Amino acid sequence: MRFDILTLFPDMFSSPLKESIMGRAIEKGLVQIRTVNIRDFTLDKHQVVDDTPYGGGQGMVMKVEPVARAIESVKSKNPSALTIYLTPQGKPFNQDLARRLSSQSHLILLCGRYEGVDERVRELFIDEEISIGDYVLTGGELAAMVVIDAISRFIPGVLGSERSAEEDSFFNSLLEYPQYTRPFEFRGKGVPEVLLSGNHSAISLWRRKEALRRTLLRRPDLLAKALLTEEEKGFLEEILNNDSKSDGS
Ligand code: SAM
Repeated sequence: MRFDILTLFPDMFSSPLKESIMGRAIEKGLVQIRTVNIRDFTLDKHQVVDDTPYGGGQGMVMKVEPVARAIESVKSKNPSALTIYLTPQGKPFNQDLARRLSSQSHLILLCGRYEGVDERVRELFIDEEISIGDYVLTGGELAAMVVIDAISRFIPGVLGSERSAEEDSFFNSLLEYPQYTRPFEFRGKGVPEVLLSGNHSAISLWRRKEALRRTLLRRPDLLAKALLTEEEKGFLEEILNNDSKSDGS
């Protein structure tokens, strides 16, 4: 899968995407990442990429022409690439969206700066707008890294052959169960016995129940979309009843 990142700060991407899983995915050719400096697409001597907003007000706005030329330069090589603008006004990014986008072969990610891009960029060139959360960053670069990382985990081979993103939190709308590794005891805290039992069906059952418990207690909103058996629904009821009893309510 290929990502072209349109940015005013290409150096921001040099280290983070070279480490660990992403670094190996790039080495293996599973993921290709190219940065495109929007400033290279200015035509004036001073390479100006921003201007004051029409109508007045604070801040600067990214000019339409350099951004348009940068997008067109990538699109001219692959007209079917999907162009995404990272913006706090976009669709909330989540695991389902990451999985859906992982089926694309080429994404163009536009990183805004200042007050964002001239609205005509959105109208003429953008296929989708994505937000990584309800807060405002100084630029779209960190958002692009988040999006690339989460999407890449769904590309076959990126996590290694024995590992799948479908075992992680948010698969079937549940958070993942608690994880433990050696030592068996640390500062008086042990590991649940069942995990040492070697009984795989008992371990799977324990993990499933802990995933349900954890999701109920931390992110009950996710459960509305989870596919649960009647027995699992009963288990959740039980946790709720026990909780309300211990509250005294
Ligand atoms: N004035 C804009 C607004 O209120 O919607 C915010 C501009 S922000 C300071 C500059 C750039 O950071 C945006 O154009 C966008 O590319 C990026 N950005 C900021 N917050 C983001 C978020 N939550 N998700 C994705 N991109 C974000």
